[in-house]
Amino acid sequence: MLDTFINGLIPLSFIEYAIYTLVVTHITIVAITLYLHRGVCHSAIEIHPILSHFFRFWLWLTTSMRTADWVAIHRKHHAKVETEDDPHSPTFYGINKVILQGADLYHKEKNNKETIEKYSQNCPTDWVEEKIYTGRNNLGILLLFIINIALFGTVGIIIWAIQMMWTPIFAAGGINGAGHYWGYRNYNTNDDSTNMSPIGIIIGGEELHNNHHAYPTAAKFSLRPWEFDIGWMYIKIFGIFGLCKVKRVAPKPVIQEKENTDAKTITQSLLQSKLAVITDFTQRVLKPAYQEERFKLSFKLLADHPQRLNESQENKLNALLKDDSTLNTIYKLKNKLHEILHSRQTKHEKFIETLNSWSSEAKSHGITALDDFLIRLRSYKVI
Ligand SMILES: [Zn+2]
Ligand SMILES: [Zn+2]
Repeated sequence: MLDTFINGLIPLSFIEYAIYTLVVTHITIVAITLYLHRGVCHSAIEIHPILSHFFRFWLWLTTSMRTADWVAIHRKHHAKVETEDDPHSPTFYGINKVILQGADLYHKEKNNKETIEKYSQNCPTDWVEEKIYTGRNNLGILLLFIINIALFGTVGIIIWAIQMMWTPIFAAGGINGAGHYWGYRNYNTNDDSTNMSPIGIIIGGEELHNNHHAYPTAAKFSLRPWEFDIGWMYIKIFGIFGLCKVKRVAPKPVIQEKENTDAKTITQSLLQSKLAVITDFTQRVLKPAYQEERFKLSFKLLADHPQRLNESQENKLNALLKDDSTLNTIYKLKNKLHEILHSRQTKHEKFIETLNSWSSEAKSHGITALDDFLIRLRSYKVI
């Protein structure tokens, strides 16, 4: 009897315990990224009720998180990103707080009724949600504690503790903290989001957080040939069995051999590729012009949208631009192009008129990188 209590019903070797723990924590991560994030929150995929019921049950059992809370807090993060209203912005709270106290920030926002009401549309409100997952939200993790002890004895308590820490560490601290702080950026999004690693396995593909902020409603997070999103792999596997349907993926801009000539195609391809266009301009025109000034100022201040700069950053930038007229010209052209692409002008005649006047101004400066970019600007094609 005492032996069963110490070792549980299924005594395993150390390696087997480790594998078990990795598998169950990975299922939790998959439930978060597929069901909560890509499914309910952004409607990028449609999950079959059998699978979504499993994910909801699993999240109740292993995290005690409610769909409506998670979804509302995350939608607010997208809506208010990097402002004081962002529930977990490292820019506002500081990276240490978001990483070490990410779960506290989540719980604080969870108690903000206004947030939950405003941002929780389309979340489940059925009987099991109301009575069990909301009404008895802590019963799941208590049940898990008992199951773990029954299966593995005292080791089960350690496994349970790891399961309890997994989401606060990897999801709350990892994605919300590191995913807005460390790593590389494919797109100059209007936030500090980063891709923590090109290989997204440990946190289910959420490592590619900059790609996600660039295209929040896209089901696939990997957007470069060398990136891997394990969440997307699961979506494809579940899709084979009819358990998951892709609703949206990111537009894929490519540069074709010949230039577009008709106004409608130019307008549509540029508006669909606006993030890629601005990022291309930043990398191909702005960055080479910045090289001489690289020791004086961080490139990020030039690459970011001016609205994102604080007063002291603005002063530093203006001081530099005052002394470098070429860089100043290119910087202003970048901001103007950003405005044109985000102007919501969908009438192609009007759009082309504004674009042509921007192009003529750009051409008048005789800067080679700019001339090359003008050809590129008419060669985007979305596939
Ligand atoms: Zn984010
Ligand atoms: Zn999101």
